[in-house]
Amino acid sequence: MLADKDRIFTNVYGFQPWNLPAAQKRGDWDKTKDLMSIGQDAIIDKIKASGLRGRGGAGFPTGMKWSFMPKEPRPDRPNFLVINADESEPGSCKDREIIRHDPHKLIEGALIAGFAMRARAAYIYIRGEYIREAETLFAAVKEAYDAGLLGKNACKSGYDFDVFVHRGAGAYICGEETAMLESLEGKKGQPRLKPPFPAGAGLYGCPTTVNNVESIAVVPTILRRGPEWFSSFGNENNKGTKLFQISGHVNKPCVVEEAMSIPFRELIEKHCGGIRGGWDNLLAVIPGGSSVPLVPAAQIMDCPMDFDGLRALGSGLGTAAVIVMDKSTDVVRAISRLSYFYKHESCGQCTPCREGTGWMWRVMERLRTGDADISEIDTLQQVTKQVEGHTICALGDAAAWPIQGLIRHFRPELERRINERQAGAGMQEAAE
Ligand code: SF4
Repeated sequence: MLADKDRIFTNVYGFQPWNLPAAQKRGDWDKTKDLMSIGQDAIIDKIKASGLRGRGGAGFPTGMKWSFMPKEPRPDRPNFLVINADESEPGSCKDREIIRHDPHKLIEGALIAGFAMRARAAYIYIRGEYIREAETLFAAVKEAYDAGLLGKNACKSGYDFDVFVHRGAGAYICGEETAMLESLEGKKGQPRLKPPFPAGAGLYGCPTTVNNVESIAVVPTILRRGPEWFSSFGNENNKGTKLFQISGHVNKPCVVEEAMSIPFRELIEKHCGGIRGGWDNLLAVIPGGSSVPLVPAAQIMDCPMDFDGLRALGSGLGTAAVIVMDKSTDVVRAISRLSYFYKHESCGQCTPCREGTGWMWRVMERLRTGDADISEIDTLQQVTKQVEGHTICALGDAAAWPIQGLIRHFRPELERRINERQAGAGMQEAAE
């Protein structure tokens, strides 16, 4: 189990105030100027050496992403950092805790990361429903300006850096990085075709890096304690500590910082008091937020909770939003509900997603009640394959994968419902 001394987020439960004096007591903003004085490329090298991979779901190496930014920005095309706080994935609730209780970790990280990638400013795009969190963030940013930590000559480093907080309006798709840029520019939040990638043409057409809240908030601690410390946790290629968000049928749902690659059973036993009704009562787990395929109980027990371990099971770590389902769950109904979510959140730009998400949801609803033909299971599988990879953004994949996981692991359950319904209809006909 991760020792308390190795936790980055020491106030994630809000036992102490979030404000600047309390944050400084916890070590935030301590000699930030010295951290910056090693130079921009040295900071990027340290983040690369730490093995930090993006915490927003895709798991792209953070240091490498920063290195794609122009080293000498043109005066009329400044670099920008955009921080994705639009946490809307069902099951995800970690960035919310950081912003509520440890916002200065994020703001200090924004300055250091922004400096490293030669950014003029950071925009924090926060989910519209996070009303109290946004209030905290606005207040924390103001505190940092008032203390000279942001703005002209930030932290007396000689570097000018601004942080803007922008509230979204509650659309899931604005969490997609290019839709977020559109929304920041005041347009409808619809994903852009890539290329060009944001590092070439992002916010207002300028080079931009979009990072998740957690990816940025861990940066100051990595620099203070050294990349070797961070990379001492987790398996090869899956380094560091991570905020896991465990919900569903565990005895004590929680958000907890743990070492990457902790086995699933240990994570649940140590922090959540086990599965409701005992381990034999576990049915399946959605390990990374609603867009990744579920994994049946037997397969996930000893799986390392990291990018590669879960990919080997045909699923993914995503945001590490672990949704646990015990045997009381109607798993077909659960996945059908997720299908409805993606149908509802589709921005409608591309046909496979706009039409496919609704079509898949309607079939899922019929499979839920067994009002279908056995052959429709294969048809549904084929349609998910026609949606997956054929859309502008990953929402199409996110809608397809949970259904694929259901068919892969629970096909007998789908068939049972259809057969029982048909048998029931047959008996009724015979009786008539
Ligand atoms: Fe919009 Fe869906 Fe296409 Fe993404 S995949 S751009 S959400 S229609």
